[in-house]
Amino acid sequence: MTEPVTRDAPRISFVSLGCPKALVDSERILTHLRAEGYELSRHHDGADVVIVNTCGFLDSAKAESLEAIGTAMKQNGKVIVTGCMGAEPEQIRDAFPNVLAITGPQQYESVLGAVHTAVPPAHDPFIDLVPPQGIKLTPRHYAYLKISEGCNNRCSFCIIPKLRGDLVSRPAADVLREAERLVKAGVKELLVISQDTSAYGVDLKYATSLWRDREVRAKFLDLSAALGELGAWVRMHYVYPYPHVDAVVELMAEGKILPYIDIPFQHASPSVLKAMRRPGNQEKTADRIHKWREICPDLAVRSTFIVGFPGETDEDFEFLLDWLDEVKLDRVGCFKFEPVDGAPANDLGPHVPEEVKQHRWDRFMQRQQAISAKRLAKKVGRRVPVIIDESNGLSAKGRTVWDAPEIDGSVHVTSRRPIRVGDIVTVKLERADPYDLYGQVV
Ligand code: SF4
Repeated sequence: MTEPVTRDAPRISFVSLGCPKALVDSERILTHLRAEGYELSRHHDGADVVIVNTCGFLDSAKAESLEAIGTAMKQNGKVIVTGCMGAEPEQIRDAFPNVLAITGPQQYESVLGAVHTAVPPAHDPFIDLVPPQGIKLTPRHYAYLKISEGCNNRCSFCIIPKLRGDLVSRPAADVLREAERLVKAGVKELLVISQDTSAYGVDLKYATSLWRDREVRAKFLDLSAALGELGAWVRMHYVYPYPHVDAVVELMAEGKILPYIDIPFQHASPSVLKAMRRPGNQEKTADRIHKWREICPDLAVRSTFIVGFPGETDEDFEFLLDWLDEVKLDRVGCFKFEPVDGAPANDLGPHVPEEVKQHRWDRFMQRQQAISAKRLAKKVGRRVPVIIDESNGLSAKGRTVWDAPEIDGSVHVTSRRPIRVGDIVTVKLERADPYDLYGQVV
């Protein structure tokens, strides 16, 4: 269907920076604006106003956000700033005193209010033009599904609870209805996100809500099982290793949701984990991972780590490397510790010198690369489903159930018949390099 266009509709240019969670916020804001008759502009200079959704997590992300605001000011001049960095407006005001408005994360109403003031909505809002699933910034075949906001943990390197507050979960029926709409609109893969997915529903005391004539509890397990009924791939991000996650891994073994779990371990040494104030009983995580692999042998475990955390000793770091050898994770990201303004970790010590951080990072990556490559090579010879992300017809790039978009590896696919983005095809895996797989559609 072609959407009618009004010449008078005000135009918005939108920049979305930061993590997948920020992307979901952007999608929500755009959906509202589109519902009110606003149109999206590809360029700042053709827009009536520019919205910049910022990320304020690390200093480097702040710098990127300030640069994006600067570009928007130069090319357009009417700029509204929202997102995590909006929680600390002084820095933005100091650099750009003329921005129209600054609002913090999740303040949809304030963003909409600022847009209305800057450029009022067209007289006749085209509410019925909005696709029921909303406007999505991600490709049509996958979508992020945010199940809660905020976080009850207080990790010492993180200021997210300060920016976003304590955990606020969405009722299960609300999440499931959004997921259903997405699947109806053609989404084949749902990426479940939040700050702490395994804590979902704690704030609601796991209250039930009505979905498809039955009550569903706001609980990680119950929500996972219900999402698994929708016929889409369901991928779990930001899970912590609590005992109740075992039952969710059983759903993975039964094929109801993808055999993939993204757990930001951040470290393995007990003293560093303690200084980081990480949630979950992280000292026993190696046992937990072994248990999960017993339940679901095909499980892929992805994680992120921080090296060079204040107080990390050579022994702590060696412990981490040994731990990597023991647990054999599939995919791993690693960051060098960077102080975040306002985080308690900045006052811990001693700080690790930059060259030591770099050296540890190199060793960490080298060690893990060999592990990941081995695990990937074991998959060669198998016939597996692959979801296609990019296609040139007879050659394409996609992902297995063990790889999430943007952060993990790809499968490079050749085919005798044309394949399209969003197709799920069966591929015989023929070879692997340290990051990616290669194969043919069968
Ligand atoms: S779990 Fe820790 S790192 Fe993650 S958002 Fe909560 S406080 Fe921050």
